[in-house]
Amino acid sequence: PIRQRLLVVANRLPVSAVRRGEDCWSLEISAGGLVSALLGVKEFEARWIGWAGVNVPDEVGQRALTRALAEKRCIPVFLDEEIVHQYYNGYCNNILWPLFHYLGLPQEDRLATTRSFQSQFTAYQKANQMFADVVNKHYEEGDVVWCHDYHLMFLPKCLKDYNSKMKVGWFLHTPFPSSEIHRTLPSRSELLRAVLAADLVGFHTYDYARHFVSACTRILGLEGTPEGVEDQGRLTRVAAFPIGIDSERFIRALEVPKVQEHIKELKERFSGRKVMLGVDRLDMIKGIPQKILAFEKFLEENPYWRDKVVLLQIAVPTRTDVPEYQKLTSQVHEIVGRINGRFGTLTAVPIHHLDRSLDFHALCALYAVTDVALVTSLRDGMNLVSYEFVACQDSKRGVLILSEFAGAAQSLGAGAILVNPWNITEVASAIGQALNMPAEEREKRHRHNFEHVTTHTAQQWAEFFVSELNDTVIEAQQRI
Ligand code: UDP
Repeated sequence: PIRQRLLVVANRLPVSAVRRGEDCWSLEISAGGLVSALLGVKEFEARWIGWAGVNVPDEVGQRALTRALAEKRCIPVFLDEEIVHQYYNGYCNNILWPLFHYLGLPQEDRLATTRSFQSQFTAYQKANQMFADVVNKHYEEGDVVWCHDYHLMFLPKCLKDYNSKMKVGWFLHTPFPSSEIHRTLPSRSELLRAVLAADLVGFHTYDYARHFVSACTRILGLEGTPEGVEDQGRLTRVAAFPIGIDSERFIRALEVPKVQEHIKELKERFSGRKVMLGVDRLDMIKGIPQKILAFEKFLEENPYWRDKVVLLQIAVPTRTDVPEYQKLTSQVHEIVGRINGRFGTLTAVPIHHLDRSLDFHALCALYAVTDVALVTSLRDGMNLVSYEFVACQDSKRGVLILSEFAGAAQSLGAGAILVNPWNITEVASAIGQALNMPAEEREKRHRHNFEHVTTHTAQQWAEFFVSELNDTVIEAQQRI
C-alpha cells in the first residue's frame, strides 16, 4: 500500500548544518524526541520542513543546502537575519515564550517590548507565510500537514487560505496559559483565529486545551463544545495528546558496553553517597534557583545527610546572548558557590553544577545511577527529562520529585512526589521523604511510572495525532 505523506513543519529542522565550502554542506541529524517519534511510525512517510538554523544569503549556498537536505527528507525555509531577529528572537522567544509560561517580562524590558511589539508581530506573520510558501510548493493532494509549536501559530491560516482542502493539524509543545494571560497579548485575537483555521489543534494536557477553548469563547465570543470550538457551523477539534518518549531507545542504551562502563565509574565515584539529579536547559521556567535553595534548606535541617548526598545539576546553556539568561546563570553560580562553601569539605562538595550538555549515552548512565531526580519547573509543557529518568530506572527504582506545574505531573503524578517548586519548605521535606523512602514504596511508585512511560510512547503519540486528524477531516466532510 502507498503510505500517506506527512509534512512535518517546525521552526527548526532536526539537523545542524555547517557550511564547508561555497556549495558544500555537512549535516548532522539530531536524534532527539520528534525525530525518533516519527521514524517509528511506519504508516507515514514523513518529510520535514523548517529553518536549518543558519543564514544562507547566496543562491549557490541555498541550492547546495537544499540538495544536501533532500537526502535526509528535509526541506529548508530560508529566513534572513533581520526576520530571524524579529520573528524568532523577538516575537517567539521574547514575547510568546515567557507569556505562555506565565513569566512576566523583566521590568526594564517592558516598555521597549511594548514599543517593538507591532514590528515583531508583522515579522512573525511574514515568517509564517514563508513557511507556508514552502509547504504549498511541496504539498500533494492527500498529504497531511502537521504544524508544530508557538513559532507557527499563523501557519494553519496561511495554509488554509491557499488551499481549504489541505488537512492541517497544529500541536503546541508549551503550556497554553489561562485566558486571563492570553488576553494581555495585543495580537490575542489574530493568533487564536489563525490557529482555529486548523482541522485539529492539540495540547499536552487537558488543562491547556481547556485554557485554549476558554480563550476562544471569552476573547472571540465563539462557542466551546466538548469537541472543540465552533464558528458558524465549522468545528475546529481541540484535544489533549500527551507526548511520550522513545522508551526503548533509553532502555536499550543501558545495555551498551560504553554506558555500562560509565555507570560503573559513576557508582564508584559517588559510592557511599546518594545521588540526586537535575537535568534542565538553563531557563527561567525550570526553577533551578528554587531547586538549589530547597536542597540547601534540606542540608541545613538534616546535618546527618550532609556528607551522604550529592546533587548533580546539568544546566544546558540556552539563549546565551540574552541578558536575562546571563543573569540567571550568574545567579545560579552564586547560590551554588555559597552552598558548596557552606557545606563542602576538603574532599567533597554537595553540589556538582555543570554548564554544559551531555551526550545521549552519558545522560543515560547518569539517569541510571540516580537515587532521586528533582524536576522543579515553574511551568513546563511536558518535561521529558522526567520520562527519560523513569525509563532508565528499572534496576534502581529511584524516586522522582516532580513539579505540579510540569505537564508530566498529569501522567506521572501517582508515582512521583508532586511538589510546588515555589514552596522551598515543601521541596526540602520531599527530598527527605525521597531519600528515606522504603524499597517497597519505591518499587510501587516506580512500577506505576515505568508502566506509563513504556506504554505511552512518542510513536503512539504521533500515530494518534495523525489518525485523529484524518478522522476529523472525514467527519467534517460528512457534516456538510
Ligand atoms: N538533553 C540532552 N543533553 C543534555 C541534557 C538534556 O540531550 O545534556 C535532552 C534531554 O534528553 C531531553 C531534552 O534535552 O530530551 C529536554 O527536554 P524537556 O522536555 O525536559 O525540556 P525542554 O528543554 O524541551 O524545555
